[in-house]
Amino acid sequence: MHGKEREDMSVQTSAYATDTLPADVDVVVIGGGAAGLNGALMLARSRRSVVVIDSGTLRNAPGEAMHGFIVLDGTPPPELLRRGREQVRQYGGRVVFGKVISAEPAAPSAEGDLRFSVTLPTARR
Ligand SMILES: Cc1cc2nc3c(=O)[nH]c(=O)nc-3n(C[C@H](O)[C@H](O)[C@H](O)COP(=O)(O)OP(=O)(O)OC[C@H]3O[C@@H](n4cnc5c(N)ncnc54)[C@H](O)[C@@H]3O)c2cc1C
Repeated sequence: MHGKEREDMSVQTSAYATDTLPADVDVVVIGGGAAGLNGALMLARSRRSVVVIDSGTLRNAPGEAMHGFIVLDGTPPPELLRRGREQVRQYGGRVVFGKVISAEPAAPSAEGDLRFSVTLPTARR
């Protein structure tokens, strides 16, 4: 399947409660599907400040239920992600509904750490 066809299969799920976008965090996770939320959960548990930015075009949104996923077999995909967002937030992570349009190197921190600047539409940064 070509990339364009694959892209067209994505389904916009409904927007969900969004947290405020912090000015500075240790990690920005782009995409709040299963992979992004799981990564964010581990980072938040490791006491990193983390924000997940997600545009909500969940890949398996057309499916009524997930299968072959231990414990949660039969769960509707949006429910998995709702619970995932809740768990990330329980550890202090934030989840922002929006689409990242660019990620670029920025000036290093005072300690010399590499930094990146992430841009959303409507000039949210
Ligand atoms: C029809 C279908 C049915 C499936 N059924 C099952 C099943 O029964 N069991 C199973 O285990 N797996 C199933 N899968 C596979 C499963 O959906 C994927 O393995 C899983 O969704 C991958 O998770 P992911 O987080 O990598 O990506 P995705 O679920 O695709 O999530 C990526 C997220 O990143 C966001 N994003 C992308 N670009 C940006 C950007 N620039 N800025 C902000 N956000 C962005 C998207 O909006 C999306 O919310 C199915 C897949 C499909 C297509």
